[in-house]
Amino acid sequence: MRTPLITLLSGVLASLLFTGTASAVPAEQVRPVPKGKTALVANPIYKSGKLDEETCQEQPVYNNDLESTESYLSFVLDCLDKSWEDQFSKAKLPFSKPRLAVTSRIGVPTGCGKFPDGAQAIYCHKNKKITFYLDRGILADVTDLFLFQVMAHEYGHHVQELSGILPTVRSGKYRNDKEILATIRKFELQAECLSGVFIGSVWRSLGRRESDFRYVMNAAYSTASHGKAANIAYWLTRGFRQENPGACNTFTAPRSKVS
Ligand SMILES: [Zn+2]
Repeated sequence: MRTPLITLLSGVLASLLFTGTASAVPAEQVRPVPKGKTALVANPIYKSGKLDEETCQEQPVYNNDLESTESYLSFVLDCLDKSWEDQFSKAKLPFSKPRLAVTSRIGVPTGCGKFPDGAQAIYCHKNKKITFYLDRGILADVTDLFLFQVMAHEYGHHVQELSGILPTVRSGKYRNDKEILATIRKFELQAECLSGVFIGSVWRSLGRRESDFRYVMNAAYSTASHGKAANIAYWLTRGFRQENPGACNTFTAPRSKVS
């Protein structure tokens, strides 16, 4: 989630490797994954409607307990798989599940280079793997919605990969660093919005208080690659309220909302 720019540049843009995807929709009903500008501004995932309201009753998770935290993360991932697999089927796009690795060491291989210092989790498009970092500091306080939201954000990148958005961003031609940064911001704010879409769709089954969501929202801080804190909160809330990936088209949003 909070990934240094250099990692994003190397992880997201530098590689042109693609891997195959397995489909949950019968082959004749699957449409080709969109490319180029269409992938960014008129993606079929934007027209796939609201996410179905799924039940995602949170499992117990205990502070300072690696085992319960790891199984909690797997459980959140299962919820995400269920919701997004249905959504891809509605969009008639091929779907496959991402993999998950949990580590307590900075520098482990992720498939997109070493795990960077300062990041909580990263998604690698090459092996479609989410690597999640858990150290003592994180394990000390795992009962709020933070881990849940980070996982939903990383899954947002997986959604972007499968729907052709990430490959398009990665293979784009950019005139300068400013343009790269502006695109990465739209990409990151979109993942944030997609996390909100998922959280909103399962919210009623979570049994959380509104203040838990506000806490996550207020945790946002401004970075050049992820946008201003106010815009991060804007997209997270927009996704949460609308529960619809169509709310997350950051690529056609006014510049002030993606700064
Ligand atoms: Zn991200």
